[in-house]
Amino acid sequence: MDILVVGGGGREHAICWTLAKSPKAGVIYCAPGNAGIAEVAQVVPIQVDEFDRLTEFAQEKNVELVVIGPDDPLVDGIVDAFEEKNIPVFGPRKNAAYIEGSKTFMKDLLKKYNIPTAAYEKFDNFESAQSYLDNQPLPIVIKADGLAAGKGVTVAFTREEANEALKSIMVDKVFGDSGSQVVIEEFLEGQEMSILAFVDGETVRPMSAAQDHKQVFDGDQGPNTGGMGTYSPLPHIADSLIEEAIETIIKPTAKAMVSEGRSFRGVLFAGLMIAPDGKLKTIEFNARFGDPETQVVLPRLKSDLVDIFLAAINGTLDEVEISWSDEAAVCVVLASGGYPASYPTGLPILGQEKAKQNGSLVFHAGTATNDAGDLVTKGGRVLGVVGLGSDIADARNKAYAAAEQITFEGKHNRTDIAVKALV
Ligand code: ATP
Repeated sequence: MDILVVGGGGREHAICWTLAKSPKAGVIYCAPGNAGIAEVAQVVPIQVDEFDRLTEFAQEKNVELVVIGPDDPLVDGIVDAFEEKNIPVFGPRKNAAYIEGSKTFMKDLLKKYNIPTAAYEKFDNFESAQSYLDNQPLPIVIKADGLAAGKGVTVAFTREEANEALKSIMVDKVFGDSGSQVVIEEFLEGQEMSILAFVDGETVRPMSAAQDHKQVFDGDQGPNTGGMGTYSPLPHIADSLIEEAIETIIKPTAKAMVSEGRSFRGVLFAGLMIAPDGKLKTIEFNARFGDPETQVVLPRLKSDLVDIFLAAINGTLDEVEISWSDEAAVCVVLASGGYPASYPTGLPILGQEKAKQNGSLVFHAGTATNDAGDLVTKGGRVLGVVGLGSDIADARNKAYAAAEQITFEGKHNRTDIAVKALV
């Protein structure tokens, strides 16, 4: 069957690459795709917010499965647009993607159903928010309600940082309408973990857990990014804790969404904090595959991803086979110099083929092919190099050996991805 994947980052490259392994996959289209995706799929120059053009394209090509990657179109109702045309589509409808689209909705949902999360208050008025903030202990976390490309959250360690974050969200409106409400939340200490699950109503089929590294520099220093690297599985975290997260957070949330008339179908992604005393709390829910979590999770999938997507769409997710390899995977993101602030683009990338020689995978994020046909940088996060090995140490060595083969001017990567897991 012919398939359309919507998106154009490292996550979508990993999805297309995994789908291409399925004997059921015919032509795979990806809109808009990128230079790496073009190696495994037919890229289509349609942007993710052009719903009419995307649905028309899918109809014209008789596409039988559509997969949505990014959050923005999901929150804006892209799944509803495909469903209106009776095209099978994997992803949550607009009313379910709201769990990612509104942090106040998500927090209120968890509170209502007694699902553990950080204590919080929400505000739609700057003066009330400011007077509440003045009386909170530091550190404190301030979050714009809506989507803000991962930049709407400030963990403030000083009053100045806290006040500045609140002002920029609510007065200066740097995130537009996404900042018309704000969540002020208790700071959680501990270790973060991401659990992604295929969900179809109340059926939850977890994927192997992963850990992300958000800050741009080693030792978790510097500003937050979209993610500088990931690894999976998590050998230093007890299976019982992962099981507890699934039973006490993810399953109850899927059930709560059904009870609210917002049945979720797609990938539910829980960002969790493990406190030093071992207690779990929810930091966030996303309504899609994580980027770069997907790059380490999907290469470990032994089952057929087409079957899983179709089962979720048909409401038979409880019956489909989903198994994971024992191999470990480590992803090191190669970023443009200057990212997450401004950075140059159009710089030639060399050494990609050499990097793959030790069996590593190279997933493209911000890349393009220039007029001369050369591979060049086009975004902040440029490539995700994934090493696979018998354990995290082995996978990590391979990922870094491969990453070293790739060069472009200003290339930056963290050197401590997965160090925490070297037990
Ligand atoms: P993204 O989409 O990039 O994952 P987001 O904008 O949805 O991010 P959150 O995931 O809510 O925002 O927060 C981003 C990061 O901020 C978290 O991964 C975590 O490191 C930190 N953070 C958020 N909430 C808290 C909290 N209550 N205590 C401590 N750290 C937090």
